[in-house]
Amino acid sequence: MSAATKPNRDSDQYDVVILGGGHNGLVCAAYLARAGLKVKVLERRGIVGGAAVTEEFHPGFRNSIASYTVSLLNPKVIADLDLHRRGLKIVERPAMNFLPLPDGGYLLTGEGRTKSEIAKFSQRDADRYDDYCAKLEAIADTLRDLVLRAPPNVVEGLGVQTVRELVRTASLGNRLRHLDLEQQRLLLDLFTMPAAAFLEEWFESEPIKALLGFDSIVGTYASPYDPGTAYVLLHHAFGEVNGKKGVWGHAIGGMGAITEAMAKAAAEHGAEIQTDADVAEILIEKDRAAGVVLKDGTVVRGRALAANLNLKLLYTRLMPEQALPSDFLARMRNFKCGSGTFRMNVALSELPSFDALPGKTLAPHHGAGIIIAPSLDYMDKAYRDARDFGWSREPIIEMLIPSTLDDSLAPKGAHVASLFCQHVAPELPDGRSWDDARGVVADLMIETVDAYAPGFARSVVGRQVLSPLDLERIFGLVGGDIFHGQLTLNQLFSARPMLGFADYRGPVRGLYHCGSGAHPGGGVTGAPGHNAARAILSDLKPFSFSSWT
Ligand SMILES: Cc1cc2nc3c(=O)[nH]c(=O)nc-3n(C[C@H](O)[C@H](O)[C@H](O)COP(=O)(O)OP(=O)(O)OC[C@H]3O[C@@H](n4cnc5c(N)ncnc54)[C@H](O)[C@@H]3O)c2cc1C
Repeated sequence: MSAATKPNRDSDQYDVVILGGGHNGLVCAAYLARAGLKVKVLERRGIVGGAAVTEEFHPGFRNSIASYTVSLLNPKVIADLDLHRRGLKIVERPAMNFLPLPDGGYLLTGEGRTKSEIAKFSQRDADRYDDYCAKLEAIADTLRDLVLRAPPNVVEGLGVQTVRELVRTASLGNRLRHLDLEQQRLLLDLFTMPAAAFLEEWFESEPIKALLGFDSIVGTYASPYDPGTAYVLLHHAFGEVNGKKGVWGHAIGGMGAITEAMAKAAAEHGAEIQTDADVAEILIEKDRAAGVVLKDGTVVRGRALAANLNLKLLYTRLMPEQALPSDFLARMRNFKCGSGTFRMNVALSELPSFDALPGKTLAPHHGAGIIIAPSLDYMDKAYRDARDFGWSREPIIEMLIPSTLDDSLAPKGAHVASLFCQHVAPELPDGRSWDDARGVVADLMIETVDAYAPGFARSVVGRQVLSPLDLERIFGLVGGDIFHGQLTLNQLFSARPMLGFADYRGPVRGLYHCGSGAHPGGGVTGAPGHNAARAILSDLKPFSFSSWT
């Protein structure tokens, strides 16, 4: 304990103290409190929700300031926490995606229109599209089945734990056995291949490859020609909206509506939620995690701690070094965080008019995910540029205008847009700081949209700019990594955060992982929070665990 620590006055002993009030921390808290445990959530910011929050970023204009679209949120979590009754309403987009092209053409996908739109570029691609979706869907189903389970954990020696993990491995094998041989080959492809090579096996025309390939670099600092990016594409396919698989939608009120409903569930089950509670240090006593010290010196004690915050931040900045096995700490220092993301929220006086589909009157493409990345080569160049220069001179942007679906976000007649931009380097070359580059890069993002929708720049009446450094400062996302660590094969499944620690238990007794640094990784899923709660209950309250699946 540091010298500045205040004595352990007025701090109750909790069963579980949760470090971070992001959506996974709240989910974990709700399940644990529901099972009768005394739970405390400590959140550094003034509001809970982590990267899933709605905030006013310009007078009169509110938006989901970080994560901005919903699909991955697990239906079991929605049902168990009764999120719909607690105010959550998710609506579908009128069209799924809009890909404007530099030559004035476009691809507009969504229910009932995707195949005819693809056929504008290639009849062969249109004919293959259903088969592609069916094959991907079968694999996504397998993944769906695995997200709410702890992956097999690699353990040393022989003991009860080894037997438990062998059973888990056998059960996984059994699940994969349902896939036929060709599906197993596809699964291997998706886990290892570059997205570009995977998509090129299916399609010949550039727009459909670009539109599908965009999902392979979202939150991933890589080129679609890099091995492993096909998995990122799959990661974005296992969601659903209101029972419709693979669809993305909008939470009315923004992403904060999801976490407000989760916080309600946790509080109504008895969890205490404290904001402005900045955890500065983990207390270790007798080789066990015993509590935390807040920045103001307050001590909060718990029989168990569950870390929702980024694990690299936890282990390299908040934990006494000597409490950790040296090999674990060395690997954690090398845990790759940095997703190449630059995020803007803009207040608009009017809807954009695209060269490809002119008009400022609300039309289906305004409510779609608008993707500026016309080809896989464009994405590759964006990545290489960012590596060399710090940011892409022709960046990739997904723009969403949620006020087209939700009138609670902007004044009547005006709009808000999310700009999710890639690629930028998590750290700039030559020691330059994002504090100096933020404005220039923000202007570039606006100009990039303006090139496809002339007049867009003029319609921007307010903006919030979040560089990777800002994402780290505000949300604790190390390197601005939206997923709490890259989704590469060496940081996935049984290897998340590393081999030997995939069962939501950390290297110190009493310390658990309940955030996106654990399986199945990032995205607003609720899955790590759910799975960690199960591990904690099985240790602290085995009887309630057996009645909870
Ligand atoms: C810009 C951006 C866009 C994204 N877009 C999408 C999207 O559209 N759809 C989607 O599904 N996913 C999206 N994601 C990913 C998704 O939002 C995250 O992976 C997910 O929200 C992480 O949830 P979490 O609960 O695991 O962690 P977080 O949301 O990161 O929560 C961790 C919490 O810990 C708190 N904390 C940190 N340090 C401390 C401390 N010392 N003491 C106390 N508390 C602390 C933080 O303030 C935060 O509230 C996006 C993320 C970002 C950043």
